[in-house]
Amino acid sequence: MISVRDAQAQVLARITTIASPEIVPLAAALGRVLAEDVRAEMDVPPTDNSAVDGYAVASADIPATGTRVFDVAAELAAGAVFSGTLRSGQTLRIMTGAPMPAGADSVYPQEVVAREGARITVGSIAPGANRRLRGEDVRAGQIVLPAGSVLRPQEIGVAASLGLAQIYVRQKPRVAVLSTGDEVAEPGSSRKPGQIYDSNRFSLCGLLEASGAEMVDDGIVPDQFDELQARLLRASEHADIVLTSGGVSVGDHDLVKAVLQQAGGIDFWQVAMQPGRPMAVGSIGRAHFFGLPGNPVASMLTFHLFVRPALWKLAGRRELFVTPFRAVATERMSKKTGRREFKRGILTFGPGGWEVRTTGPQGSGILTSMTAANCFVVIEEERGDVGAGEPVWVEPFTPW
Ligand code: AMP
Ligand code: MG
Repeated sequence: MISVRDAQAQVLARITTIASPEIVPLAAALGRVLAEDVRAEMDVPPTDNSAVDGYAVASADIPATGTRVFDVAAELAAGAVFSGTLRSGQTLRIMTGAPMPAGADSVYPQEVVAREGARITVGSIAPGANRRLRGEDVRAGQIVLPAGSVLRPQEIGVAASLGLAQIYVRQKPRVAVLSTGDEVAEPGSSRKPGQIYDSNRFSLCGLLEASGAEMVDDGIVPDQFDELQARLLRASEHADIVLTSGGVSVGDHDLVKAVLQQAGGIDFWQVAMQPGRPMAVGSIGRAHFFGLPGNPVASMLTFHLFVRPALWKLAGRRELFVTPFRAVATERMSKKTGRREFKRGILTFGPGGWEVRTTGPQGSGILTSMTAANCFVVIEEERGDVGAGEPVWVEPFTPW
């Protein structure tokens, strides 16, 4: 038996190379991993500018008490620049985002202004009010987005605000996915007695896509030694990672193990966890290999714990794990000591803070426990049964 922690460390230690960089249009970069630091070549915003539609004045002109009348020197349209300098007693009609004119540093919102013809009457405001400073968002020379960041919509927006139209990202790791087993039938085909429909390949492909991989669907492989060997070797030629489910336990037809034992470079682990347990990790041809357990919840969970961090390391990401947080169990949860257990949980925010309960029956073949859940409840090795009211760790499903 190997602990989840040790298994994760050993998996990551095997991933030494990371994907090559490529340049992509910014609009196509969502979810990709930055290959190099993005350093700002300009200040954002590039000039001091107005935060409101209103009237710009010099703070020295703002009355401390009472009111004051200003002459409207000019009206500035959005995108226009005032070329002169405001003199004392003058104001400039200005729109949100327009550059502050020379001689002004404060802006009256138009709602507080009484205008008559080319004059306004105003009271007091704070010096510097409603002015956004040049560089208050980003300063030229600053590293705004470090290499290894995932480009979320906001990172893409920041890159665009710097004027970038394309960006260096890591190539998406390619992952070939196969299901194994004579009992596994393709959805949409007729199912023979004794067969079940393949769910693993579909949930794994979804996890891969959501994790930033380029996947290659290599279908279902029957429990036949020669065919399995040929299909796995072929898959390894066009993928960075070959991912299978099923066939890694000790049943009579668990041939993945037999094939891989011959291929070499594979370790077979009994991981001290529930659900999950049997797993194969190593390499085949030039590809990394993961043989996940066949039970549908176990295959999704082992993906989360072992494949995703490996994939993310390959993709050059800095953060390889999702940060867990604490919640209070609102029900008793049974737990065997000596292994790490992962319950499917429903996390809610109650009067006392974050609370979590399980989804009901927790069998590793009950895939609807995953659809009912929004997190894993993680109960550490040394713990026994968890009582209602005790704190537990939760790992929210990401991104869904
Ligand atoms: P195995 O690891 O091959 O012993 O399979 C363990 C359990 O998972 C068995 O009940 C299999 O029928 C089931 N299983 C294996 N592969 C799949 C799959 N692709 N989709 C759904 N269930 C599967
Ligand atoms: Mg099988």
